[in-house]
Amino acid sequence: MNYQDIIRWLKCPPGPEVYPLRDRADQIRQQYVGDAVHLRGLVELSNICSRNCLYCGIRRDNQAITRYRLTADEVLDCARKAVDFGFGTLVLQGGEDPGLSKDFIGELISLIKSETNLAVTLSLGERKVDEWAAWREAGADRYLLRFETSNSQLFNYIHPPRDGHAPCDRISMLKTLQSLGYETGSGVMIGIPGQTYEDLARDIELFGELSLDMIGVGPFIPHPQTPLGAGQVSDAGIDQVPGSVEMGLRVLALARIVCPGANIPSTTAFATLDRQAGREMGLCWGANVVMPNLTPLQYRKLYEIYPSKAASTETAEESRDAAFRQIEHLGRTPGSGRGDSPHHLQQT
Ligand code: SAM
Repeated sequence: MNYQDIIRWLKCPPGPEVYPLRDRADQIRQQYVGDAVHLRGLVELSNICSRNCLYCGIRRDNQAITRYRLTADEVLDCARKAVDFGFGTLVLQGGEDPGLSKDFIGELISLIKSETNLAVTLSLGERKVDEWAAWREAGADRYLLRFETSNSQLFNYIHPPRDGHAPCDRISMLKTLQSLGYETGSGVMIGIPGQTYEDLARDIELFGELSLDMIGVGPFIPHPQTPLGAGQVSDAGIDQVPGSVEMGLRVLALARIVCPGANIPSTTAFATLDRQAGREMGLCWGANVVMPNLTPLQYRKLYEIYPSKAASTETAEESRDAAFRQIEHLGRTPGSGRGDSPHHLQQT
């Protein structure tokens, strides 16, 4: 799959002409990672964020949301639920919250690890190398940091650096995470205002070049309390990629083809844009992971990175039941154990 092939698939008309892409991705998914669908319990740890990303509903300047941070006890309750539900992994995601200190997260990881056999995935944004190293030392297994777009000009625009700092280089951060021994994941949003098909094709090539263990992709969903959601960006004159489920599924399939042994979730953005079929479609276009939400119900709606996020009014039990139902409906099997990335296991 070279750059020109990727462009051809991204630009091919919707409908039957694109089905061979889905079928190839599904066949590669089955060959490399099998029929098991791994379940990760998602815990949205904090919606406090010191960054001001133009796309994200929990950005610093959004005054319209109530901020929260879970206590260690609340997170441990979620970990116990994950064990009860038969999940192998806990994913701790949050804003770049200074309150999620090196020590707090380190102790949390140690507590989870002393009580359970869960794998721990962190998705806490751009942090200092000594924090990443300490968390790895405490037992964290995986780290997710999307590079969002490989177009560095666009990235620096939608993701302003911290005041007085140089632009962020998430590619070199991903290499640091790999060197620390993390199973490393990245990904992009599809349909960012200003994103072209050429940008997206380059993103997909980069997944392969970075030799990622996990890839998370999903359509960009405008949030009205953000500059990108309020239409403050003009995309006139460019071949704008749509932020549709249809385009997202193509990117998911292409990611599977360039990184056959990676773990790839059918992300919440697909389920948000198509409540009925979004998650199942992701699983048919190359995904092998789902992430039912375990965040305590009273906080769910507050982690509003985009509006009407799927599962924001469900209990943890309802999220679990829906995931199992969908897996069964597709004739697939729920994964057992930690569900480490076959690509990572092969490298180590
Ligand atoms: N702060 C961490 C970070 O930046 O990696 C983790 C939390 S951040 C909210 C997780 C992901 O949400 C981002 O990587 C981004 O791709 C996605 N996201 C944020 N706003 C979004 C939007 N409006 N539409 C789709 N995805 C969005």
